[in-house]
Amino acid sequence: LTEKLSRLVKQVRGQARITESNVQDMLREVRMALLEADVALPVVRDFIARVKDKALGQEVVGSLTPGQALVGIIHRELAATMGEGVADLNLAVQPPAVILMAGLQGAGKTTTTAKLAKWLIERRKKKVLTVSGDVYRPAAIEQLRTVTKQAGAEWFPSTPDQKPLDIARAALDYARKHYVDVLIVDTAGRLAIDEAMMQEIRALHAELKPVETLFVVDAMQGQDAVNTARAFKEALPLTGIVLTKLDGDSRGGAALSVRAVAGAPIKFAGVSEKIDGLELFDAERHAGRILGMGDIVALVEQVTAGVDLQQAQKLAAKVKSGGFDLEDFLEQIRQMKKMGGLSSLLDKLPTQIAAKAGEADLDRAEKDIRRKEGIICAMTPEERRRPEIIKASRKRRIAAGAGVQVQEVNRLLKEFEQMQAMMKKMKGGGLMKMMKRLGGLK
Ligand code: GDP
Ligand code: MG
Repeated sequence: LTEKLSRLVKQVRGQARITESNVQDMLREVRMALLEADVALPVVRDFIARVKDKALGQEVVGSLTPGQALVGIIHRELAATMGEGVADLNLAVQPPAVILMAGLQGAGKTTTTAKLAKWLIERRKKKVLTVSGDVYRPAAIEQLRTVTKQAGAEWFPSTPDQKPLDIARAALDYARKHYVDVLIVDTAGRLAIDEAMMQEIRALHAELKPVETLFVVDAMQGQDAVNTARAFKEALPLTGIVLTKLDGDSRGGAALSVRAVAGAPIKFAGVSEKIDGLELFDAERHAGRILGMGDIVALVEQVTAGVDLQQAQKLAAKVKSGGFDLEDFLEQIRQMKKMGGLSSLLDKLPTQIAAKAGEADLDRAEKDIRRKEGIICAMTPEERRRPEIIKASRKRRIAAGAGVQVQEVNRLLKEFEQMQAMMKKMKGGGLMKMMKRLGGLK
């Protein structure tokens, strides 16, 4: 799906005008791509009809080229197909609200259980209890215990010799007695769809009467995700989808078909293996990702959220007066980190650009930034303001404090000097221009 679509977007981009015939060409490609991704025919038909309708009726206004306008329409409709806006969790029941996690082994259920617990504690101020019904792999219960602890939630013990139904009953009983707001029930998944697994989770569902039944699916699974989604949808009344591993290579085309097949909104996206790597799913952004336009919206938001404008103006004024010091240098490094680091920024750029940057280089660059921060942090405020006083013995002290070689301190000072000289030349105006350009990426 993704390759085709992005090729197609490139085609449109190269064209100055949209004619009836190349709209047809494009739509045929889109249609084929969607069908290939196993999206149900009525959904595809509906999608194509909507895009066509809008494209042909559209007056191209402003500075948009017709190609951009068409890409925009496809983008919006793709987003609409995956769900409007952001779908939140439904917790509007008499507590404890039960969330049942369903999905194949390795999909990310256990990880997501803990991520969700953390999310509910932090964002919704809930008291959360987790329990594992995965009695088939002894390590699975222990895994949930570990990640639940990381999440700062409560964990209800279970053992491999218990029956999942008994575990569920006991946990629910405990949750009621201890005023738990949300009980998240992790379940066993198999490597492939199997009837015993489906029966077990159906029984759990009947017993627990969860307000949310979340189907957890690995975005990297691609086509297979569709069949899995269908099987789970047939077995259970799904209320939401969690698409995990969106930090991987996949462009997440699975989202479109899974959403259509499962008939439930995608509520969350897993974006790293870490405990805080969970986000509310945003269909608009995701459509951009599928189209290979990169997550430009996210990028712009990140840049504007991360860079404090006042800070930038202050910096510009300093540069103008020639007072740019290591303190400011450190501030810049921190701004960069606030924006999520280089790789997270690059993730959101169009793939073509990001690919050029190269993974290895990026990794090195991020480590380098962290080391630099460490070195500056090892300096006294006086040294940061007047780097010229940093002579041999101070250098040795700083290097020891930051846990680096003296040469690295030298290198940083050298780099800083060069940057200072460059910034003097820029006289502040260039900096603001640069930031404006970033903000105007949209
Ligand atoms: P389960 O069998 O469904 O319970 O799956 P797990 O929660 O044990 O996850 C399987 C593997 O996927 C683990 O190594 C997780 O760290 C990893 N994982 C889960 N979610 C994500 C995610 O959003 N991003 C990344 N990179 N890895 C994930
Ligand atoms: Mg598990």
